[in-house]
Amino acid sequence: MLENQLLKIAQDFGSPVYVYDAEKIEYQYKRLTNAFKNVKHLKINYAVKALSNISILKLFNTLGSGIDTVSIQEVQLGLAAGFTPEQIIFTPNGVSLNEIEEAAKLGVKINIDNLSILEQFGTKHPKTPVCIRINPHVMAGGNANISVGHIDSKFGISIHQIPHILRIVENTKMTINGIHMHTGSDILDIEVFLYASEILFETAKQFKNLDFIDFGSGFKVPYKLGDIETNIEELGEKLSAKFNAFCKEYGKDLTLAFEPGKFLVSESGRFLTKVNAIKQTTSTVFAQVDSGFNHLIRPMFYGSHHDIINISNPKGRERFYTVVGYICETDTFGNNRRINEINEGDVLCFKNAGAYCFSMASNYNSRFRPAEVLWYNNEAHLIRKRETFDDIINNQIEVNFASKKEKQLVK
Ligand SMILES: *Cc1c(COP(=O)(O)O)cnc(C)c1O
Repeated sequence: MLENQLLKIAQDFGSPVYVYDAEKIEYQYKRLTNAFKNVKHLKINYAVKALSNISILKLFNTLGSGIDTVSIQEVQLGLAAGFTPEQIIFTPNGVSLNEIEEAAKLGVKINIDNLSILEQFGTKHPKTPVCIRINPHVMAGGNANISVGHIDSKFGISIHQIPHILRIVENTKMTINGIHMHTGSDILDIEVFLYASEILFETAKQFKNLDFIDFGSGFKVPYKLGDIETNIEELGEKLSAKFNAFCKEYGKDLTLAFEPGKFLVSESGRFLTKVNAIKQTTSTVFAQVDSGFNHLIRPMFYGSHHDIINISNPKGRERFYTVVGYICETDTFGNNRRINEINEGDVLCFKNAGAYCFSMASNYNSRFRPAEVLWYNNEAHLIRKRETFDDIINNQIEVNFASKKEKQLVK
């Protein structure tokens, strides 16, 4: 997308606003499927939680993608977007047996990552096949909060507990149709990922009725110029070879599944904010924008980097700015960034704003959540209205406190 197109969107739809480029999403989807073209059955299940707007889900549906969901509401959203239950996998963590049963009733694929739940579910529904989320205990991940493969992680069933799984399967006569892992975000080293895949193949051999092996996600995308990203093409080549060899040994062409979020939508998204004020202190020049961590929490939450550019003055002289929000708490988007000269009223564009940005937005400070726009076929489509005061007040219930005077009268 061009800067003047973005600027026009900020003018037409107001700010702050999220903008997603459909073409980029399609490009990433095709890049991934192409990297694994040597695998006979490939399934990409887009991780809904990254960006869950129904129009984005519909776009993925047109591409032939399935979806990965982590809550019953995401399952319902997927169904509403037109996915068939078979195209949906439910991979929750820490939810009640009840919620899993509800999803199973809707006919979606079930992924279980807890021995206690597995036993209860298998006992009650032995005829419903389930996939098992394994924790291979491989440390892969850029940030401690998003590395889910390590030994003390709450995710998955430990590979050391495989005998327990086998005992439950034998006792309940349930069917295990898939083996899954999701080791966490930001895989920088393909060898680490391949090593985890070996563990998964070893595990898979112990289950005789598999239809698929799901390698989760964790593909890293570049956040700035020269940033490392997962080399999908190399991973595709190496993992496909291993997978095909495994299928031969297993005696069945299984489906190779992935469930990326960030890889598919991060770079498609841009977040546009307007500069309310420039504040010069003795040490810093602050650009104060009409947003905050209520709309984009990643920098404050996990120290993520988002490139910030001034699309109102792209040719201006570069100066250093600390870009901050309007929340009454520290909410820094970027420290001492070199940005083309900013004037009050300019529109700043945050990059990599497709994944875990709008989907993590809140109403903190009683602010409206932003509008969302999809750029599709060279046209801007509003896909979510900006909230209004009604959205803030709607579910609140007022107690009618008697005034002091009335209380005295009652006495
Ligand atoms: C969040 C999540 C994903 C997506 O991870 P990305 O890093 O966005 O690709 C995939 N699978 C599961 C189970 C998840 O919880």
